[in-house]
Amino acid sequence: MGKLSVLNVGGHPKDAILYAGGTMANHIANGDTVCTLTPTHGLSHHETAIANFKQNKKINFDSLIEERKNELEAASAELGIKDVRFLGHDDTIILPKPEIIKEITDVILEVKPDIIITHWPNDTVPAHANATQMTLLAIEAASCVQKDDSKQPHSIKQIFFHVSQGRTNIRENSRPPNPTTIIDITDVIHLKSNAMNKFKSQYYGENGNLQRKLGEALDGNIHAIHSRVPYAESFIADQPSLYSLLPLSEYQLSIQNKTKEDNLKHLSQFLIN
Ligand SMILES: [Zn+2]
Repeated sequence: MGKLSVLNVGGHPKDAILYAGGTMANHIANGDTVCTLTPTHGLSHHETAIANFKQNKKINFDSLIEERKNELEAASAELGIKDVRFLGHDDTIILPKPEIIKEITDVILEVKPDIIITHWPNDTVPAHANATQMTLLAIEAASCVQKDDSKQPHSIKQIFFHVSQGRTNIRENSRPPNPTTIIDITDVIHLKSNAMNKFKSQYYGENGNLQRKLGEALDGNIHAIHSRVPYAESFIADQPSLYSLLPLSEYQLSIQNKTKEDNLKHLSQFLIN
């Protein structure tokens, strides 16, 4: 298969990495083109700023927004991603807006992704669900005739919604969407961990235990265990895939053909060691 272009959308700056960072690192290792995009500056969810605000400390909004942009760029760089689109819109009340949809459309027309990754459309966090709605509208707009005839229309081949169990909040687990596609991220889990540790505004960091705990509990969750791999990210494909024969993943067969001993040894790799 030829090299792919992948656009990874996250409602807040850290989401593109948190939900699909390992998968992105795999695509980079495969020589694919990867772009991360976040429509918002994420200031309403800047955890340390919220804490300072509550203590009546002075807040410089511009430098906080710059900090969140720098964090996403640094995290993406850990995964080998150089193309980062930080659109910087306010996320206090995030609604699908034509100007944001137009900006996402322009990125699609420029990057020409084969695959787009974004949040599950019914995600319980409004900034996530609305980022997906805007992305779906931008996908539609990009496939149409463009007023600017220097830009060719572009059609996406597949959309993957990330549905990693337990990530967003506990409410997601009351109606868990079942993944169609699970990506083994074991070989790149430490890259993802290093990337997440760049989000210091969100209490991640080398000296904190947050990413180590989340890496084990969420990337090492039930989808990974049932796929017999230590760490995985989970997705739902938007469109059914077309084949001439019933498919069986060669990768899955290679994992399942391991001996019981090898399997247990493989499964018990730990991020915390
Ligand atoms: Zn988020």
